[in-house]
Amino acid sequence: MLASDKFHDECGVVAIYAHPEAEKLTYLGLHALQHRGQESAGIVSSNGMMLNVHRAMGLVADIFTEDVLSRLRGTLAIGHTRYSTAGDSALLNAQPIMVQSNKGVTAVAHNGNLVNAQEIRQRLEGQGSIFQTNSDTEVIVHLIALSKEHTLPEAIADALRRVEGAFSLVMISPDRVFAARDPRGFRPLAMGRIPALPGEKQDTVVFASETCAFDLIGATFERDVKPGELVIVGPEGTTSRFYSPAAAQSSCIFEHVYFSRPDSIVFGRSVQESREGLGRQLAREAPAEADVVVPVPDSGVTAAIGYAAESGLPLRFGLIRNHYVGRTFIEPRQTVRDFGVKLKLNPIRSLLEGKRVVLFDDSIVRGTTSRKIVRMIRGAGAKEVHMRVSCPPTISPCFYGVDTPSKRELIAANKSVDEIREFIGADSLAYLSLEGLKRACGDGEKTQYCSACYTGQYPTNWVDVEAIQPAVLLKR
Ligand code: SF4
Repeated sequence: MLASDKFHDECGVVAIYAHPEAEKLTYLGLHALQHRGQESAGIVSSNGMMLNVHRAMGLVADIFTEDVLSRLRGTLAIGHTRYSTAGDSALLNAQPIMVQSNKGVTAVAHNGNLVNAQEIRQRLEGQGSIFQTNSDTEVIVHLIALSKEHTLPEAIADALRRVEGAFSLVMISPDRVFAARDPRGFRPLAMGRIPALPGEKQDTVVFASETCAFDLIGATFERDVKPGELVIVGPEGTTSRFYSPAAAQSSCIFEHVYFSRPDSIVFGRSVQESREGLGRQLAREAPAEADVVVPVPDSGVTAAIGYAAESGLPLRFGLIRNHYVGRTFIEPRQTVRDFGVKLKLNPIRSLLEGKRVVLFDDSIVRGTTSRKIVRMIRGAGAKEVHMRVSCPPTISPCFYGVDTPSKRELIAANKSVDEIREFIGADSLAYLSLEGLKRACGDGEKTQYCSACYTGQYPTNWVDVEAIQPAVLLKR
């Protein structure tokens, strides 16, 4: 999928407890999670006495220079890389958010989206609270500050019981790191360990949105933070408590379809294994009379490998992606048709000419990009184009931390599969079934999934009527 017509990643979080270069490990962890958010990043570190913060707009490698990291030296740290799903993308909303309250100085980094943030914010503002940002995460900070509980862990647990929606959080105080997941376990959060070196007193405990961050810093994956669990790591060691009774689990299945890196273990399962399984399952459900399988790079590649393997068709990289396209570029005065897509993708004529092509992608959002890619493949001489999509039609927006267009913009919410096929100009179009998706991702084995964007059945009570109203009603 291309940047102009894709679901945007949510956020990535990292936490490190007890390492002489905690800020550097956090920086490296964020670097491994850069795919989860590219708008801003931040680190808060502690030297055991006080917290230091640096947040900025841009990419992790550009923000954290040697100089910046030298000012963040500490033994504890948390970090965040952000794509805005709530609040705008200004620096003001970059995380971690740091506050001083009667519970001491703390900072929080959040992946997910709270569905009752507005309601709580209005209530707190009515009682005199002054908010600094328009991010939903700040609500948690205020609830902690206002909690009647006397200790920070109790106040965090109290605050988390009052919010609803998706949150995987890491927090820091001068001498402790905290990690928590919402009771339904929407977003991933893994816990790992780096064994103490000779002469060091204790192991380093680490947390990250995805285990690919552990690989880079030499940590071993231990387990996921469980839904409804609050893990506290401090001088007393690691303790855990469940701040909320268990709820029906609804981990985001789209993490396996698209968001997470294939080299990560997410919700106790290899993403690579799931994604290849999606392709294999789709090959069984929707075979095509074709000569080659061509993935839309990069995100469509892993599932396409599964489709090709199961169908016996050769996989050919007939589309080449330019990875160096920035946010703005100068278009020639005489408009080039499909300029935006051509900037990012270019077909290899020798692989496509005269071929019946299975074009493979991981989703269709508005359909406009798929239409341009189909046109591009035909323009390179393909005889037929059979589009295959490794998930079911996306018919409803996400309220749990994934940036989805409203229902009126989602093509599958407004057109049948055959109408979409006609719109994108493919000879055939097939999506993976919901049952096939769940089977390939091991639903019911180690986790149960949310699949609301494919079904419109939301696991929480809250719904945004405007966003889920059928497009036909909104036009009236
Ligand atoms: S609605 Fe879709 S994207 Fe959002 S949490 Fe559920 S499965 Fe994930």
